[in-house]
Amino acid sequence: MPAVRSNRSALLHTSRQQSSQPTAPNLRRRLTAQARHEADGGSQRRQPRPENVEGSFYVDHTCIDCDTCRWMAPASFTREGDMSAVTRQPEGEAQRQAAMQALLSCPTFSIHVRERDRGELRAAQQSFPLPVEGCANVYHCGFHSEHSFGATSYFIQRPQGNIMVDVPRWTPLLAQRLEQLGGVRWIFLTHRDDVSDHAQWAAHFGAERIIHRSEANQRQGTDKCEVQLEGGGPWTLPGPASSSTAKDPSSAATNNSDDVELIATPGHTAGCVSLLYRPSRALFTGDHLAYSHRLQRLSIFRAYNWHSVSKQLDSVAKLSNLDFVHLLPGHGRRTSFADAADRERQLQAVLEAEGYVAVPAA
Ligand code: SF4
Repeated sequence: MPAVRSNRSALLHTSRQQSSQPTAPNLRRRLTAQARHEADGGSQRRQPRPENVEGSFYVDHTCIDCDTCRWMAPASFTREGDMSAVTRQPEGEAQRQAAMQALLSCPTFSIHVRERDRGELRAAQQSFPLPVEGCANVYHCGFHSEHSFGATSYFIQRPQGNIMVDVPRWTPLLAQRLEQLGGVRWIFLTHRDDVSDHAQWAAHFGAERIIHRSEANQRQGTDKCEVQLEGGGPWTLPGPASSSTAKDPSSAATNNSDDVELIATPGHTAGCVSLLYRPSRALFTGDHLAYSHRLQRLSIFRAYNWHSVSKQLDSVAKLSNLDFVHLLPGHGRRTSFADAADRERQLQAVLEAEGYVAVPAA
Protein backbone atom coordinates (compact mmCIF):
# COMPACT_ATOMS: atom_id res chain seq x y z
CA MET A 1 0.00 0.00 0.00
CA PRO A 2 1.73 3.24 -1.02
CA ALA A 3 2.17 6.06 1.47
CA VAL A 4 0.94 9.42 0.29
CA ARG A 5 4.19 11.19 1.00
CA SER A 6 6.40 8.60 -0.63
CA ASN A 7 4.41 8.97 -3.78
CA ARG A 8 4.34 12.71 -3.79
CA SER A 9 7.00 13.34 -6.38
CA ALA A 10 5.12 11.12 -8.77
CA LEU A 11 1.69 12.29 -7.80
CA LEU A 12 1.59 15.94 -7.46
CA HIS A 13 2.79 19.30 -7.12
CA THR A 14 3.61 21.64 -4.32
CA SER A 15 2.07 25.01 -4.64
CA ARG A 16 0.76 25.70 -1.21
CA GLN A 17 -0.80 29.11 -0.89
CA GLN A 18 0.94 31.31 1.64
CA SER A 19 -1.77 33.93 1.87
CA SER A 20 -4.72 33.66 4.22
CA GLN A 21 -6.76 35.77 1.82
CA PRO A 22 -9.55 34.04 -0.08
CA THR A 23 -8.65 32.94 -3.59
CA ALA A 24 -10.32 34.87 -6.38
CA PRO A 25 -13.08 32.28 -6.92
CA ASN A 26 -13.68 32.04 -3.17
CA LEU A 27 -13.88 35.80 -2.81
CA ARG A 28 -16.28 36.01 -5.73
CA ARG A 29 -18.50 33.35 -4.20
CA ARG A 30 -18.39 35.06 -0.83
CA LEU A 31 -19.40 38.42 -2.30
CA THR A 32 -22.16 36.79 -4.26
CA ALA A 33 -23.47 35.04 -1.18
CA GLN A 34 -23.22 38.24 0.83
CA ALA A 35 -25.02 40.28 -1.82
CA ARG A 36 -27.76 37.70 -2.01
CA HIS A 37 -27.98 37.53 1.77
CA GLU A 38 -28.40 41.30 1.97
CA ALA A 39 -30.89 41.30 -0.87
CA ASP A 40 -32.84 38.61 0.94
CA GLY A 41 -32.77 40.58 4.19
CA GLY A 42 -35.92 42.56 3.64
CA SER A 43 -37.60 40.12 1.32
CA GLN A 44 -40.34 37.62 1.87
CA ARG A 45 -37.78 34.87 1.58
CA ARG A 46 -36.34 35.79 4.97
CA GLN A 47 -39.73 35.74 6.68
CA PRO A 48 -40.81 32.72 8.76
CA ARG A 49 -42.35 29.83 6.87
CA PRO A 50 -45.96 29.30 7.93
CA GLU A 51 -45.10 25.70 8.83
CA ASN A 52 -43.13 26.87 11.89
CA VAL A 53 -44.88 26.64 15.24
CA GLU A 54 -45.25 29.83 17.26
CA GLY A 55 -42.15 30.71 19.28
CA SER A 56 -38.61 31.95 19.29
CA PHE A 57 -36.96 29.73 16.65
CA TYR A 58 -38.08 29.67 13.03
CA VAL A 59 -36.91 28.68 9.54
CA ASP A 60 -37.29 31.08 6.63
CA HIS A 61 -38.00 30.42 2.94
CA THR A 62 -34.32 30.17 1.87
CA CYS A 63 -33.86 26.65 3.28
CA ILE A 64 -32.17 24.34 0.74
CA ASP A 65 -33.43 21.16 2.44
CA CYS A 66 -29.92 19.94 3.30
CA ASP A 67 -31.19 18.00 6.36
CA THR A 68 -28.49 19.32 8.72
CA CYS A 69 -30.79 20.89 11.31
CA ARG A 70 -33.03 17.82 11.34
CA TRP A 71 -30.26 15.47 12.44
CA MET A 72 -28.53 17.98 14.68
CA ALA A 73 -31.68 19.00 16.56
CA PRO A 74 -34.32 16.37 15.77
CA ALA A 75 -36.52 17.42 18.69
CA SER A 76 -37.16 20.80 17.06
CA PHE A 77 -36.78 20.55 13.27
CA THR A 78 -38.64 18.38 10.80
CA ARG A 79 -39.24 18.37 7.07
CA GLU A 80 -42.45 20.09 6.03
CA GLY A 81 -42.96 20.19 2.28
CA ASP A 82 -39.55 20.51 0.67
CA MET A 83 -37.95 22.54 3.46
CA SER A 84 -37.34 22.36 7.19
CA ALA A 85 -39.49 23.99 9.84
CA VAL A 86 -39.49 24.30 13.61
CA THR A 87 -42.32 21.99 14.48
CA ARG A 88 -41.57 21.96 18.19
CA GLN A 89 -39.86 24.80 20.00
CA PRO A 90 -36.81 23.56 21.93
CA GLU A 91 -37.47 22.89 25.59
CA GLY A 92 -34.77 22.95 28.24
CA GLU A 93 -31.10 23.73 27.98
CA ALA A 94 -29.99 20.69 25.94
CA GLN A 95 -32.61 21.11 23.21
CA ARG A 96 -32.01 24.84 23.05
CA GLN A 97 -28.27 24.33 22.67
CA ALA A 98 -28.85 21.75 19.91
CA ALA A 99 -31.12 24.23 18.09
CA MET A 100 -28.48 26.97 18.43
CA GLN A 101 -25.81 24.61 17.08
CA ALA A 102 -28.09 23.82 14.13
CA LEU A 103 -28.64 27.55 13.58
CA LEU A 104 -24.87 28.09 13.39
CA SER A 105 -24.44 25.11 11.07
CA CYS A 106 -27.21 26.01 8.63
CA PRO A 107 -25.41 26.65 5.32
CA THR A 108 -27.91 29.28 4.16
CA PHE A 109 -28.50 31.12 7.46
CA SER A 110 -32.14 30.12 7.19
CA ILE A 111 -32.67 29.50 10.92
CA HIS A 112 -33.44 32.44 13.21
CA VAL A 113 -34.09 32.97 16.89
CA ARG A 114 -36.06 35.94 18.16
CA GLU A 115 -34.86 35.95 21.76
CA ARG A 116 -31.42 34.90 22.83
CA ASP A 117 -28.71 36.17 25.10
CA ARG A 118 -25.19 36.68 23.82
CA GLY A 119 -23.78 34.18 26.27
CA GLU A 120 -25.99 31.47 24.83
CA LEU A 121 -24.80 32.16 21.28
CA ARG A 122 -21.19 32.32 22.41
CA ALA A 123 -21.51 29.00 24.25
CA ALA A 124 -22.96 27.38 21.14
CA GLN A 125 -20.16 28.77 18.96
CA GLN A 126 -17.52 27.52 21.36
CA SER A 127 -19.06 24.06 21.58
CA PHE A 128 -17.65 23.26 18.11
CA PRO A 129 -16.19 20.99 17.01
CA LEU A 130 -18.68 18.57 18.53
CA PRO A 131 -17.42 15.14 19.62
CA VAL A 132 -19.01 12.37 17.56
CA GLU A 133 -20.69 10.06 20.03
CA GLY A 134 -18.97 6.70 20.45
CA CYS A 135 -16.18 7.67 18.04
CA ALA A 136 -13.05 8.59 19.97
CA ASN A 137 -10.98 11.53 18.63
CA VAL A 138 -13.53 12.32 15.93
CA TYR A 139 -15.46 15.59 15.84
CA HIS A 140 -18.19 17.20 13.75
CA CYS A 141 -16.93 20.62 12.58
CA GLY A 142 -20.39 22.22 12.10
CA PHE A 143 -20.62 25.52 10.16
CA HIS A 144 -21.74 23.79 6.97
CA SER A 145 -21.20 25.57 3.69
CA GLU A 146 -23.74 26.31 0.99
CA HIS A 147 -20.96 25.76 -1.56
CA SER A 148 -20.92 22.11 -0.48
CA PHE A 149 -24.72 21.98 -0.29
CA GLY A 150 -24.45 21.71 3.48
CA ALA A 151 -22.03 18.76 3.53
CA THR A 152 -20.70 17.64 6.90
CA SER A 153 -17.03 18.14 7.69
CA TYR A 154 -15.15 16.20 10.37
CA PHE A 155 -11.98 16.63 12.38
CA ILE A 156 -9.80 13.73 13.48
CA GLN A 157 -7.36 14.42 16.31
CA ARG A 158 -4.39 12.08 16.09
CA PRO A 159 -0.77 12.10 17.29
CA GLN A 160 0.55 11.79 13.74
CA GLY A 161 -1.16 15.01 12.64
CA ASN A 162 -4.79 16.08 12.73
CA ILE A 163 -7.02 15.64 9.71
CA MET A 164 -9.93 17.71 8.48
CA VAL A 165 -12.24 15.53 6.38
CA ASP A 166 -13.98 17.71 3.79
CA VAL A 167 -14.36 21.35 4.62
CA PRO A 168 -16.78 23.59 6.52
CA ARG A 169 -17.33 27.24 5.60
CA TRP A 170 -14.43 29.42 6.66
CA THR A 171 -15.12 30.45 10.26
CA PRO A 172 -12.35 32.12 12.29
CA LEU A 173 -13.91 31.04 15.58
CA LEU A 174 -13.84 27.40 14.53
CA ALA A 175 -10.25 27.85 13.36
CA GLN A 176 -9.35 29.05 16.86
CA ARG A 177 -10.99 26.02 18.42
CA LEU A 178 -9.15 23.68 16.03
CA GLU A 179 -5.88 25.43 16.90
CA GLN A 180 -6.56 24.59 20.54
CA LEU A 181 -6.91 20.95 19.49
CA GLY A 182 -3.52 20.98 17.71
CA GLY A 183 -4.34 22.52 14.33
CA VAL A 184 -4.84 20.77 11.02
CA ARG A 185 -2.00 18.85 9.32
CA TRP A 186 -4.01 17.33 6.46
CA ILE A 187 -7.18 18.34 4.67
CA PHE A 188 -8.64 15.27 3.05
CA LEU A 189 -11.19 16.03 0.32
CA THR A 190 -13.38 13.02 -0.46
CA HIS A 191 -14.43 14.41 -3.86
CA ARG A 192 -15.19 17.58 -5.77
CA ASP A 193 -18.64 18.35 -4.30
CA ASP A 194 -17.57 19.03 -0.73
CA VAL A 195 -14.48 21.24 -1.01
CA SER A 196 -16.01 24.59 0.03
CA ASP A 197 -13.37 27.01 1.41
CA HIS A 198 -10.49 24.52 1.19
CA ALA A 199 -7.89 27.13 0.17
CA GLN A 200 -8.54 29.33 3.20
CA TRP A 201 -8.40 26.44 5.65
CA ALA A 202 -5.19 25.15 4.05
CA ALA A 203 -3.56 28.58 4.07
CA HIS A 204 -4.54 29.25 7.68
CA PHE A 205 -3.13 25.99 9.02
CA GLY A 206 -0.38 25.37 6.48
CA ALA A 207 -2.16 22.09 5.87
CA GLU A 208 -1.63 19.88 2.87
CA ARG A 209 -4.74 19.03 0.90
CA ILE A 210 -5.33 15.56 -0.46
CA ILE A 211 -7.71 14.84 -3.32
CA HIS A 212 -7.82 12.32 -6.13
CA ARG A 213 -6.33 13.74 -9.30
CA SER A 214 -9.48 13.08 -11.29
CA GLU A 215 -11.44 15.38 -8.90
CA ALA A 216 -8.98 18.26 -9.01
CA ASN A 217 -9.92 21.19 -11.21
CA GLN A 218 -9.06 24.82 -11.82
CA ARG A 219 -12.57 26.17 -11.25
CA GLN A 220 -12.59 25.10 -7.61
CA GLY A 221 -8.88 25.72 -7.12
CA THR A 222 -8.36 22.06 -6.25
CA ASP A 223 -5.77 21.78 -9.00
CA LYS A 224 -3.57 23.48 -6.37
CA CYS A 225 -4.06 20.67 -3.86
CA GLU A 226 -0.69 19.61 -2.56
CA VAL A 227 -1.34 15.86 -2.80
CA GLN A 228 -3.17 14.46 -5.79
CA LEU A 229 -3.77 10.72 -5.59
CA GLU A 230 -3.45 8.66 -8.70
CA GLY A 231 -4.68 5.22 -9.57
CA GLY A 232 -6.79 2.95 -7.41
CA GLY A 233 -4.95 3.01 -4.09
CA PRO A 234 -5.24 2.23 -1.28
CA TRP A 235 -2.95 4.87 0.18
CA THR A 236 -1.63 5.66 3.66
CA LEU A 237 -0.45 8.87 5.32
CA PRO A 238 3.09 9.51 6.48
CA GLY A 239 4.07 9.21 10.13
CA PRO A 240 4.60 12.02 12.64
CA ALA A 241 7.88 13.33 11.26
CA SER A 242 6.03 15.96 9.27
CA SER A 243 3.32 16.75 11.83
CA SER A 244 4.62 20.29 12.25
CA THR A 245 1.35 21.72 13.46
CA ALA A 246 1.07 19.47 16.52
CA LYS A 247 1.15 21.77 19.53
CA ASP A 248 2.06 19.01 21.94
CA PRO A 249 5.36 17.46 20.85
CA SER A 250 4.79 14.46 23.08
CA SER A 251 1.75 13.64 21.01
CA ALA A 252 4.00 12.86 18.05
CA ALA A 253 5.60 9.93 19.80
CA THR A 254 4.58 7.03 17.64
CA ASN A 255 5.61 6.36 14.10
CA ASN A 256 2.46 4.67 12.95
CA SER A 257 0.90 5.87 9.77
CA ASP A 258 -1.22 2.77 9.39
CA ASP A 259 -4.02 4.25 11.46
CA VAL A 260 -5.41 5.86 8.30
CA GLU A 261 -6.15 4.21 4.99
CA LEU A 262 -7.51 6.01 1.95
CA ILE A 263 -9.72 3.79 -0.18
CA ALA A 264 -10.83 4.51 -3.72
CA THR A 265 -14.63 4.34 -3.84
CA PRO A 266 -15.45 5.57 -7.35
CA GLY A 267 -19.00 5.82 -8.58
CA HIS A 268 -20.71 8.94 -7.21
CA THR A 269 -17.89 10.75 -9.02
CA ALA A 270 -14.93 9.20 -10.81
CA GLY A 271 -12.41 9.94 -8.07
CA CYS A 272 -14.35 9.56 -4.80
CA VAL A 273 -12.09 8.38 -2.00
CA SER A 274 -13.14 7.25 1.49
CA LEU A 275 -11.01 7.43 4.61
CA LEU A 276 -10.78 4.65 7.17
CA TYR A 277 -9.63 5.74 10.63
CA ARG A 278 -8.75 2.45 12.28
CA PRO A 279 -8.44 3.47 15.97
CA SER A 280 -12.12 4.49 16.01
CA ARG A 281 -13.22 1.98 13.37
CA ALA A 282 -14.71 4.92 11.48
CA LEU A 283 -15.20 5.18 7.73
CA PHE A 284 -15.64 8.65 6.20
CA THR A 285 -17.50 8.19 2.94
CA GLY A 286 -18.18 11.66 1.53
CA ASP A 287 -21.16 11.19 -0.79
CA HIS A 288 -20.42 7.56 -1.56
CA LEU A 289 -22.70 5.89 1.01
CA ALA A 290 -24.85 7.13 3.90
CA TYR A 291 -27.82 6.22 6.03
CA SER A 292 -31.11 7.42 4.58
CA HIS A 293 -33.60 8.64 7.16
CA ARG A 294 -36.39 8.34 4.61
CA LEU A 295 -35.57 4.77 3.58
CA GLN A 296 -34.43 3.73 7.06
CA ARG A 297 -31.42 1.94 5.59
CA LEU A 298 -28.10 2.63 3.91
CA SER A 299 -28.36 4.28 0.52
CA ILE A 300 -26.15 5.36 -2.39
CA PHE A 301 -28.57 8.23 -3.15
CA ARG A 302 -28.80 7.12 -6.77
CA ALA A 303 -30.54 10.36 -7.86
CA TYR A 304 -27.34 12.24 -7.06
CA ASN A 305 -24.97 9.93 -8.91
CA TRP A 306 -22.82 12.00 -11.26
CA HIS A 307 -20.63 9.22 -12.72
CA SER A 308 -21.60 5.53 -12.61
CA VAL A 309 -24.14 3.72 -10.44
CA SER A 310 -22.64 0.33 -11.21
CA LYS A 311 -19.18 1.51 -10.15
CA GLN A 312 -20.67 3.01 -7.00
CA LEU A 313 -22.26 -0.34 -6.15
CA ASP A 314 -18.96 -2.13 -6.85
CA SER A 315 -17.37 0.28 -4.38
CA VAL A 316 -20.05 -0.48 -1.78
CA ALA A 317 -19.42 -4.21 -2.19
CA LYS A 318 -15.71 -3.57 -1.62
CA LEU A 319 -16.42 -2.09 1.82
CA SER A 320 -17.16 -5.59 3.13
CA ASN A 321 -13.40 -6.10 3.40
CA LEU A 322 -12.96 -3.20 5.82
CA ASP A 323 -13.23 -3.20 9.59
CA PHE A 324 -15.46 -0.28 10.61
CA VAL A 325 -18.52 0.18 12.81
CA HIS A 326 -19.11 3.92 12.30
CA LEU A 327 -20.06 5.36 8.92
CA LEU A 328 -19.65 9.13 8.67
CA PRO A 329 -20.83 10.63 5.38
CA GLY A 330 -20.75 14.13 3.92
CA HIS A 331 -24.42 14.05 2.96
CA GLY A 332 -27.06 11.80 4.47
CA ARG A 333 -27.09 10.58 8.03
CA ARG A 334 -24.24 8.99 9.92
CA THR A 335 -24.84 5.57 11.43
CA SER A 336 -23.17 2.94 13.60
CA PHE A 337 -23.27 -0.82 13.35
CA ALA A 338 -23.60 -3.17 16.32
CA ASP A 339 -20.72 -5.31 15.02
CA ALA A 340 -19.14 -6.65 11.84
CA ALA A 341 -22.06 -8.98 11.17
CA ASP A 342 -24.52 -6.12 11.42
CA ARG A 343 -22.37 -4.01 9.08
CA GLU A 344 -22.23 -6.82 6.55
CA ARG A 345 -25.99 -7.38 6.75
CA GLN A 346 -26.67 -3.69 6.15
CA LEU A 347 -24.19 -3.48 3.25
CA GLN A 348 -25.80 -6.50 1.63
CA ALA A 349 -29.24 -4.94 2.14
CA VAL A 350 -28.36 -1.84 0.15
CA LEU A 351 -26.77 -3.93 -2.61
CA GLU A 352 -29.88 -6.10 -2.85
CA ALA A 353 -32.19 -3.08 -2.80
CA GLU A 354 -30.21 -1.61 -5.72
CA GLY A 355 -30.35 -4.89 -7.68
CA TYR A 356 -26.59 -5.30 -7.57
CA VAL A 357 -25.12 -8.24 -9.42
CA ALA A 358 -21.39 -8.66 -9.04
CA VAL A 359 -19.56 -9.13 -12.33
CA PRO A 360 -17.27 -12.17 -11.99
CA ALA A 361 -13.62 -11.43 -12.50
CA ALA A 362 -12.44 -12.38 -15.99
S1 SF4 B 1 -29.84 23.42 8.04
FE1 SF4 B 1 -30.75 25.21 7.04
S2 SF4 B 1 -30.75 24.70 4.85
FE2 SF4 B 1 -30.39 22.81 5.94
S3 SF4 B 1 -32.44 21.89 6.17
FE3 SF4 B 1 -32.05 23.11 8.02
S4 SF4 B 1 -32.90 25.14 7.63
FE4 SF4 B 1 -32.72 24.07 5.66
